[in-house]
Amino acid sequence: MKAGVIYPRCSVTKKEFGVALEEREQGGWTFVRAYQLGSSRSISQDDDTQYTGGLYRGPDYNGCPFCQGGIGLVLCGKCHQFSCYDKSGSFTCGHCGHHSQVEGTIEGFGGSGGN
Ligand SMILES: [Zn+2]
Ligand SMILES: [Zn+2]
Repeated sequence: MKAGVIYPRCSVTKKEFGVALEEREQGGWTFVRAYQLGSSRSISQDDDTQYTGGLYRGPDYNGCPFCQGGIGLVLCGKCHQFSCYDKSGSFTCGHCGHHSQVEGTIEGFGGSGGN
């Protein structure tokens, strides 16, 4: 089983955090744990892992470390980076500030395009 990590930003505070992912046997990825980054993040984000096939919230996922409501993740349709998501139906991207409705019912995945 492969593991990965992504670096979303909190949609409220715009702070970056880390999320550990595990590849699912059925395809897609489960996000298993969110954690605050230390001051010396050494892992480069621009690895070429493609997080395709959907992201699924793990049963023990603890949510965004910076805000109460950020229990999911959403992929920005504009900059294609992740932010925390409070399941309110819309989100503001922590990276580029793009505000969008969240489409679909998969927890923590979606976000309409803005190109
Ligand atoms: Zn957050
Ligand atoms: Zn964005």
